[in-house]
Amino acid sequence: MSSLSQHAGNHLAELLDGFGLAAATPLSNWIDGELVAGEGEEIILMNPSTGEALVSYRDAGAALIERATQAAERGQREWMALTASDRGRRMNAALRGLEGHEEELAQLESVVAGKPIRDCRAEVGKVREMFEYYAGWCDKQHGEVIPVPTSHLNYVRYLPYGVVGQITPWNAPMFTCAWQLAPAIAAGNGVVLKPSELTPFTSVVIGRLLENGGLPQGLINIVNGLGKTTGSALTGHPTISKLVFVGSPQAGRMIAEAGARRLVPSVLELGGKSANIVFSDARLDDAVAGAQAAIFAAAGQSCVAGSRLLIERSIFDEVTSRLARAAEQIQVGLPSDEATRMGPLQNRRQFEHVTRMIDAAVAAGARILTGGKRPEGLPEEARGYFIAPTVLVDVTPDMEIAQQEVFGPVLIAMAFDDEAQAVRLANDTRFGLAGAVWSQDVARAHRVAAQLRAGTVWINSYKAISVMSPFGGFGDSGFGRSSGLEGLREYSVPQSVWVETAPEASVAFGYGNGVG
Ligand code: NAD
Repeated sequence: MSSLSQHAGNHLAELLDGFGLAAATPLSNWIDGELVAGEGEEIILMNPSTGEALVSYRDAGAALIERATQAAERGQREWMALTASDRGRRMNAALRGLEGHEEELAQLESVVAGKPIRDCRAEVGKVREMFEYYAGWCDKQHGEVIPVPTSHLNYVRYLPYGVVGQITPWNAPMFTCAWQLAPAIAAGNGVVLKPSELTPFTSVVIGRLLENGGLPQGLINIVNGLGKTTGSALTGHPTISKLVFVGSPQAGRMIAEAGARRLVPSVLELGGKSANIVFSDARLDDAVAGAQAAIFAAAGQSCVAGSRLLIERSIFDEVTSRLARAAEQIQVGLPSDEATRMGPLQNRRQFEHVTRMIDAAVAAGARILTGGKRPEGLPEEARGYFIAPTVLVDVTPDMEIAQQEVFGPVLIAMAFDDEAQAVRLANDTRFGLAGAVWSQDVARAHRVAAQLRAGTVWINSYKAISVMSPFGGFGDSGFGRSSGLEGLREYSVPQSVWVETAPEASVAFGYGNGVG
């Protein structure tokens, strides 16, 4: 096949060429300060909006992972030779590399990921926010002095791991890339990042623009390819000393296992099945708008999607029918259309998964209140992976749809009778990423929030997140934290230094100084 389809690819070709990625034979990797083409298996990307072939590139494979890790080692040494303040200044300077390219980046993301252009513009803004925030930490990650009960001065320094490996998914490629790159390099590490094979290009462009904006050559390497080839070459590479993975629980297990075999620690940011609890005393306009944004933003392809709506029984019918009406008002359409609020699903496999989950739920007794099929009134060329905003009722907690992540625009609604039952239902999944409580009773809102087994909880809100505040999960939603100081610490190793301050050093034989 020609590497670019005649129909849908012209705009993408212009964008790739504009970024120097050569659309005809995509230079899909950024390694050691150079754009490099892969030489492995051909990976064909489909246009999420039309379902037609869009562009193809080649899997990077183990040889390019080897080059990237060597480059990252060199880049990291150069980076750590700078002072901490200089690293901060250079991270801020790197952002100048992005200037003037924001709109093209947003367009590139929109075409390949199938996300509404307005969402992609907001995502570019997040890249800046994350780099600015972590640039500020570079010279503030100072250590501590511990008042040990001996004559020693004991202090703790925070060292980088060296070279870290990062693997990201397709649902928010630019966000996830900057989310993990910024703390990794702020803590002094070099990076090899493998984006999803389905959304390879924006991470390459971001790595290149930032590095050219002021970072040492080789500090950031972006290598594209399949999980089973390029991904596993990265997780198994002896130079990688920490793994940070954002994606599904299934792949997360494999990444953690690969790390465990080499005794390399991992952070896993995985999926969710988050509960959004609405009590009868909530301000219902806010709760309905919040529930709508919680599940239908990004067509539900969001790890924190509020996919289980738990509603107090007395207001169940009112809330679900208002939500169904609101869902029908959402402008679904082509990602390039400025008016579009919800685009297609990103890929065929996801489309088939979501469709199968809806069908299985209906077969198990659930009832579709709205959606469940292709939206009506789409433009002629929108033959791709579209599913209308969907609300399901008559769902029981034992159904697959109540337990497994759909990762699509599908909301299930269940009723509860009291606070205790709401908490029980909310915690009745293996996931634990996020949750929300809607109530005007302050005491109850805090009481319920405290009982939710979720890494992030909102009260009378949903989806507020910030790079300043720790983020991560319980259970099948993973472990470790990103964002905030906690996110920086995940990329740092504490080193405890003991200095004898007594006039004469006395080294105890045995347990004298407390160490076994
Ligand atoms: P996925 O797990 O299929 O793939 C994620 C990445 O892992 C891709 O880059 C893929 O190539 C790679 N991969 C797969 N198998 C691998 C292996 N054996 N070795 C190394 N790499 C491998 O996930 P996806 O379908 O791309 O993304 C959707 C999932 O991501 C959802 O579950 C979603 O909830 C989750 N997600 C979580 C967060 C979070 O912060 N918690 C954020 C975004 C998405």
